Formats: sequence, C-alpha cells, structure tokens
Amino acid sequence: GVAGMAVTDSEALAALHRVFGYETFRGEQEAVVDHVIAGGDAVVLMPTGGGKSLCYQIPALVRPGTGVVVSPLIALMQDQVDALRALGVRAGFMNSTQDFDERRTVEAEFLAGELDLLYLAPERLRLDSSLDLLSRGKISVFAIDEAHCVSQWGHDFRPDYLTLSVLGERWPDVPRIALTATATDATHREITERLGMPDARHFVASFDRPNIQYRIVPKADPRKQLLAFLREEHAGDAGIVYCLSRNSVEKTAEFLSKNGIEAVPYHAGLDAGTRAAHQARFLREEGLVVVATIAFGMGIDKPDVRFVAHLDLPKSVEGYYQETGRAGRDGLPSTAWMAYGLSDVIQQRKLIQSGEGDEAFRRRAGQHLDAMLALCETVRCRRGQLLAYFGQEPSGENCGNCDTCLAPPDTWDGTVAAQKVLSTVVRLQRERGQKFGAVQIVDILLGRRTVKVIQFDHDQLSVFGIGEELSEAQWRGVIRQLLAQGLLAVEGDYGTLVLTESSGSVLRREREVPLRKEPEKPVTSRSGGGA
Ligand code: ADP
Ligand code: ZN
Repeated sequence: GVAGMAVTDSEALAALHRVFGYETFRGEQEAVVDHVIAGGDAVVLMPTGGGKSLCYQIPALVRPGTGVVVSPLIALMQDQVDALRALGVRAGFMNSTQDFDERRTVEAEFLAGELDLLYLAPERLRLDSSLDLLSRGKISVFAIDEAHCVSQWGHDFRPDYLTLSVLGERWPDVPRIALTATATDATHREITERLGMPDARHFVASFDRPNIQYRIVPKADPRKQLLAFLREEHAGDAGIVYCLSRNSVEKTAEFLSKNGIEAVPYHAGLDAGTRAAHQARFLREEGLVVVATIAFGMGIDKPDVRFVAHLDLPKSVEGYYQETGRAGRDGLPSTAWMAYGLSDVIQQRKLIQSGEGDEAFRRRAGQHLDAMLALCETVRCRRGQLLAYFGQEPSGENCGNCDTCLAPPDTWDGTVAAQKVLSTVVRLQRERGQKFGAVQIVDILLGRRTVKVIQFDHDQLSVFGIGEELSEAQWRGVIRQLLAQGLLAVEGDYGTLVLTESSGSVLRREREVPLRKEPEKPVTSRSGGGA
C-alpha cells in the first residue's frame, strides 16, 4: 500500500542523501530501486553515464545482507571498491589479482555480515568453492553488470556469463538485477533467457536527448570553424572541445584564448594540480571552455554545458554518444558539433592498424569505427541513426533538430568519380608498383604538375588530369566516402591508399556509388528556425 511504499521510498532516499550526497534519483533509478528493494527481478537498459550503479547499490544498502555484484571489469574493481569505501560503504572484491590472504580477509568479512557490497569476477561463480561461500552468508541482491556479455552474438561475449543462471536456481528468493548500456532487442531477449529471468521487469531508459542538436560539418580549417561556431552560437557559454592529441589540445586552447574566448587545456600530460584547478574552474565558472582529450569528463556533473565540440573523430558511436551526452543535462537547448574530414578517416584507420591488440581486437575496433563513419556520412536523420544503433525506435522519420533534418543533404551518383579514384590507385600499383596517399592521387586527378608529380613522372599516367570536373575539396570528399564505405583502404604509416575486396565491383561497373553532397552552406541553429 501507500504507507509501505513511503517507507521504502524514504529509506532509499535517505541512503541516497546520506551515503552519496545526491538530492534526487534520476530517470528510471527510483522505479528500479523500489522494485528491487521489494524483491523483484529487473533488467535495466540505461546509457553509459545514466547512473546504473545506484540501481543496485541502494538496494544493497537498504536490504539486509550483502549485495553481490558480478562484473567482468576486473581492472576497475579496486577503484570501485575504494570509491565506495571513501563514502563509508563496506565494500570488497574477489578476483584473480588478489593473493590468498587478501581473499581470506574478504571471505571472512562477507561471512561475518560485514560487507554491504561484494564485487566478483564472473569466473568465480564457476567454482564450487565460491558458490559454497556465498551459500554460507546472507545475500541481499545479485547485480549482473554488463549483462550483454551473455549474448553470443555481441562484441563482448563471455562464456562465464552463461553459468550465471545458477544464481536464480540456487537463490530463488534473492532478487536479481541485470544491467547493460548496449542492447538491441535480440540481446535483451537473450539476457532474459540465458540468465533465467522470465519474470523480470524491464526498465528501458530512452537514449534520446531531444535538447541536443547534432551537427557534423566538413572539416576545412577546424580551429577557425570552431571559433566561428562559438562566436555565432555560443558566445559566453560553457562547453567542452574534444581533441585527439595533447598537442592539439594545447594549441586549440591557446588559439581560442588569443581570440577572446576563455579556454583552458585538460589532458593527462598536465600535472595533477593544474588538471584539478582547470576542472574546478569549469564546474564553478559560467562560461569557461575546456579543451580536452577524452581524459576529461568522466563523472563530471555540470548541468549547463551548452555545447560539446569534436575537432577529431571519436573511435566509436558509444564514445560519441557519451561525450556529446555531457551537453545539456539541464534539458535546455545545446549543441553537439563536430568537424569531420578525410584526415580523420585516414588517421583512425592508421591508428587501428598500428595499434596494439590482436587480429580480433583490430577487427572489432574497425567495426566500431565503421559505425561511427556511417553516422558521419548518413543522409538520414542523425538522431534516428544514433537511436537505431542502440536498438531504439526513433519517434519519427525526422527529428527536426539535427543538421540532416534541418538541411537535408543531396546525394549524387559518384560511380564515375569513384572509378577514377580507384583506377588511379590501380595504375600506380600495377604499372609502377607504387602506393601513394590522398594528396598525390588528387594532384594526379586534377592534372597538377607539382614537384612530386614531376619527380615520379606521374604526368605520364593515362589518368593524369582526368578529374578536372571536380575541385580538390570534392575529390577529398569522394576519397573520404570511399574509405568510409570500405571501397578503399589505408595502409602503412604514411596513409597510402590501396584497394579492398569490394573495389573490384566498382571498377567492373557492377555497382553504383551514391555519394553525399557536401552542404554548400553550413547549418547553424538559426538556419533551421527550430530549437
Ligand atoms: P553508468 O554505470 O550507468 O555508466 P554511473 O552509475 O557510473 O553510470 O553514474 C554516472 C554518473 O552519474 C556518476 O558520476 C554518478 O555519481 C552520477 N549519478 C548517478 N545517479 C545520480 C543521481 N541520482 N544524482 C546525481 N548524480 C548521479
Ligand atoms: Zn534529425
């Protein structure tokens, strides 16, 4: 009844205030917490940064016994536990990084009922000894974090997650809560089935951030473009500018400061004192711009960030969503603005190739990048594409608050242009045994007798000057889109261009290549009339 709920409510709220120092629950948190405290199972889908942790931490604090958290992120456990202990929560963890004594201490604390939360790696639960241990203590709730790891079709499949259905079998009276940030419908069904949670209530937070206007502009002179964007639309506003390298963070912050915009740098190469000072200023002051690497932003809760700008391409849609999501937490109109160009595609492809990690890792990184590129190159509503990526239905065909909705880009038949680019790459390779980057390819297509063209006799190639109908910027756009579509690839440290398995079908005229026409005039929030 109402009275009962009020008691639960106040206990949960009290824990939220007392332990975490927060005023109110966010979004679905309260509904989830109430349901689990009352003993129900829950499947929770919430975007990263949405506040999943509190969904199980509060029930663990309110219900008698220890909350057992299954998490694959072993490297984070120590930090998570330290952070909780700093708040006065009695937390511990058990994983393979511990020695015997450390594990014995945690076991003793658990059995004595002295732990509010116990973090476990999933492989622990394969061991009879672990299950026996858990049987001898009192458990308040099981939380299964990163629950999509149970999906065999997903990127992050962990065989150990398949054994987690044992929790429901051995502890039918202990509520379970499965949490994830990435779930298509299929993954969601798999979670319910494989974890054996048919009666779980599903809590699905929307990934839509309607007050954020998404815009991706062709990169020409990114710092100047950024400056114009800030002056025209966000003068005096607080915001974050993301750059890939420390060097470009420094240079961009300097450039903005010189041009009358208060900006400070933030990256891991600065000493801790400077970083803390810049972060504190950002939180305290009204209109400061922080220029940062992705090291900045985790756990930063500033409601009135009016824009997030990217001068370099994020590595994944997840990253893009998380970073842009730091704008407009107060619900007021905000902008996610990005400058994107050919150099981004080449740089990111090179990073993946020369980076560490095995073949499977590189393939996955490549898939993440492909999804990000598809978002950049789309002619459809960006919000719709973003929501679809996270398995959610957009509310309509057009959101009316992204650049492609405000000024729909035209497409053009780029088949012939694509053939010209690919033929040039083929000629260089077959006839000369040479590989070159985009600059040389474009110079050849435009028939420019540059020093390097003369040096390599490239004015003697039959393809020399066959592309005078397009401008340099247009050719770079063609090459960028061919790279994004996998019709061309980057090789080696110098970003030389090579064919892919799919290139042949274009050269043999077996397929058409529709390309996106770059907008002549960039969209500003004024040109749309809306938000
Ligand atoms: P997730 O696990 O979903 O990625 P977290 O649980 O780490 O998200 O929460 C993200 C951030 O939001 C954290 O800094 C957290 O402290 C903060 N947060 C979560 N819930 C609330 C709330 N109700 N009020 C204020 N801040 C919150
Ligand atoms: Zn849209």
